[in-house]
Amino acid sequence: MNNTESWWEVMAKGFLMVLSGPSGSGKGTVSKALMERNDDIVFSVSATTRQPRPGEIDGENYFFYTKEKFNDMIDNNEFLEHAFVHTNYYGTPKKFVMEQIEKGEIVLLEIDVQGALQIKKNHKEAVFIFLLPPTMDELKDRITKRGTESKADIDTRFSNAFKELDFVGEYDFFVVNDKVELAVLDIEAIIHSERLRVKRHKNIKEQVTKKQVTKKGGN
Ligand code: 5GP
Repeated sequence: MNNTESWWEVMAKGFLMVLSGPSGSGKGTVSKALMERNDDIVFSVSATTRQPRPGEIDGENYFFYTKEKFNDMIDNNEFLEHAFVHTNYYGTPKKFVMEQIEKGEIVLLEIDVQGALQIKKNHKEAVFIFLLPPTMDELKDRITKRGTESKADIDTRFSNAFKELDFVGEYDFFVVNDKVELAVLDIEAIIHSERLRVKRHKNIKEQVTKKQVTKKGGN
C-alpha cells in the first residue's frame, strides 16, 4: 500500500449477502434495482429444476437443469447450499461465489430460508437480510397479479410465505419493500455499515500504524 491509496480500496473485502423473503416480497425487483446502481455487487445465478417462466433466460435468471444434472451436482459437492422450495429444487453453485468473494466482490444470493440457514452454519461473515411485504394482503395480491403461477402454486406460495416469516428472527436485518427505491436505499445502508465493521478488517490496527506520515506541517 502506498500513501495515496485510500483506506477504502485497501481494506474493503468481499462478502456474501443473503436476501430472503416470501414469494411476492419483491426480491427479484429489489435485487435488480440494487445491481443497477452498484457495480460492485454480483448476482449469484442459482440452479433450479423448475421450468422457466416466459421471458426467463437460462444462465441469467437461473440455470435450468434436469433433476439428474441437479443430483449429480449435489453428489459432486458443487453447491454452497441447496433446498427443495415449493415444488422444485434450487441451489447455489459454489465455484462462482467463492471466486467472486476472493476478488473482493459482494455476492448477492437470493435464496429461501432453508438455504440461508445452511449458509449461516458455514459462513459467519455473511450478511442476512429478510425482505418483508408491507402487508400480507399486498403479498397475496402481488403473487396473484404476477399471473405466472397456477392457482395451486399460488396457494402453496402463499401458505409457505407464513412459514418463511417464522424465520425472520434468524436474519441480521429486515427491509420492508413498500417502495422499491426505499428498499434499495436500506440495503445500501446495510452494505455501507457492513464494510465499516471492524471484524471484516483483520489487521486494521497494523494497516493504520504502518502508514507513514509524509505530509509536513499542519497538526
Ligand atoms: P422462484 O421459483 O419464484 O424463482 O423462486 C422460489 C423460491 O426459491 C424463492 O424464495 C427463491 O428465493 C428461492 N431460491 C432461488 N434460488 C435459490 C437457491 O439457489 N437456493 C435456495 N435455497 N433457494 C432459492
